[in-house]
Amino acid sequence: MCPGADLLGAGVPRDESPTPTIVRSYPTVAYVITEPCIGTKDHACVDVCPVECFYEGPDQLFINPDECIDCDACRPECPVDAIFPDTDVPSEWEKYIQKAVDVFKKGDLKVAITREKWEKEKGVAGTAANSYYQNYKK
Ligand code: SF4
Ligand code: SF4
Repeated sequence: MCPGADLLGAGVPRDESPTPTIVRSYPTVAYVITEPCIGTKDHACVDVCPVECFYEGPDQLFINPDECIDCDACRPECPVDAIFPDTDVPSEWEKYIQKAVDVFKKGDLKVAITREKWEKEKGVAGTAANSYYQNYKK
């Protein structure tokens, strides 16, 4: 008999053996927006989201983890590749996972406006979009 056969337990087919649980040190939050959004924030992702789960942060947009359905529609739209599934965030940007969790605890973010509205605002002094690019020049 194979030396490891009895580890599976009598009568348990090999393909139904328990799958090991991977424990992560940070929360699960669906899709996450990371550093490249800061200073770009062009709202391209907003228009393709079927559940309108992008929210306006002062420096970047945020994805509401309770509303995101993991559809992946936003990722190819981002011109700076800022969006990742939480399981695939580059190690240098893992702090953006906790940042996304913390920002929704306050509950005071507004739903992000469409790209068209954002583009219009950019040229109008005193608007959020106009102020944004003065504060976060790249
Ligand atoms: S993965 Fe889909 S649901 Fe989630 S933020 Fe992107 S477009 Fe919206
Ligand atoms: S498309 Fe990318 S850079 Fe633009 S707002 Fe969305 S996450 Fe930020």
